[in-house]
Amino acid sequence: MEIAVIGSNMVDLVAYINKMPKLGETLEADDFAMGCGGKGANQAVAAARLGGKVLMMTRVGDDAFADNTIRNLEECGVDTRFVERVPGVSSGVAPIMVDRDSHNRILIIPGANKHLLPPAIDAAADTLRQCKLIVMQLEIPLETIYHTIALANEAGVPVILNTAPATPELDLAWACRCDFLVPNETELEILTGMPVEDLPQIEAAAHSLFERGLKHLIVTLGEKGALYMHGDEKRHFTAPSVDAVDTTGAGDAFVGCFAQTLVASGDINRAIERAILYASNSVTARGTQTSYLDAAAFGH
Ligand code: ADP
Repeated sequence: MEIAVIGSNMVDLVAYINKMPKLGETLEADDFAMGCGGKGANQAVAAARLGGKVLMMTRVGDDAFADNTIRNLEECGVDTRFVERVPGVSSGVAPIMVDRDSHNRILIIPGANKHLLPPAIDAAADTLRQCKLIVMQLEIPLETIYHTIALANEAGVPVILNTAPATPELDLAWACRCDFLVPNETELEILTGMPVEDLPQIEAAAHSLFERGLKHLIVTLGEKGALYMHGDEKRHFTAPSVDAVDTTGAGDAFVGCFAQTLVASGDINRAIERAILYASNSVTARGTQTSYLDAAAFGH
């Protein structure tokens, strides 16, 4: 396997309603949909749909959601040999309410995702050392992320850390030992504790990370594309203007495509350009993984 995604999986349980229920109120929803998500699984699926040889390390629970998640990963061509069930624990689930005005309320229950711990990394160490790239996000315990970074640094395997969802608890000393950090603007602000209102501020925040040893920073900027920085090198990549209908999972589409393209081509610029096109396309369709194209449909 070339790309190891070590991260979360989640099952989205989406109720479409007219209006949000008040405290104690019971309402009937118009519609319901179940979808596979979780930042780790989203990124693994995007990279695999584009032709990447991807393995996913994640933990599922002791329930029917687990079967759903494993089946979905396999159907998308993701290697699931390091997906394990945790007895007596629920899978990660996200009950979501979306009202007529597209306002939402979301609960995240991490469940089994909290059980992906350092011994799992040690158990897979031989395989991980042979991967060309390791990709992580922040929906699993931080101690597991630090443990993986240590292993990857020692083995010379590059690491992409997508710093989502943002948490001030992330230890920057560890984060800056990754080869690529990929935050969005809000995450960069929370990570560095510095303002990111304009480009000079973003650059100052970036330099605070380079001073700690970070090699490459990619800040995703939504409809404005992405900013790449590497020491004094800096490039802004614009995003195509699209009719955005649902931006959930855009960051994951970006990371998945970036990882796959980087491994396939070794070309950072090409990987960013392609990731922007892929992510921008994903916002034109509803849903998360349902909006990720395969290589043939993507065509770039
Ligand atoms: P996140 O979903 O993590 O907040 P961003 O909003 O920065 O991440 O989006 C990630 C990428 O998705 C962007 O770099 C861009 O390529 C694409 N994207 C997101 N929103 C839009 C949009 N409204 N129009 C075009 N592209 C978008």
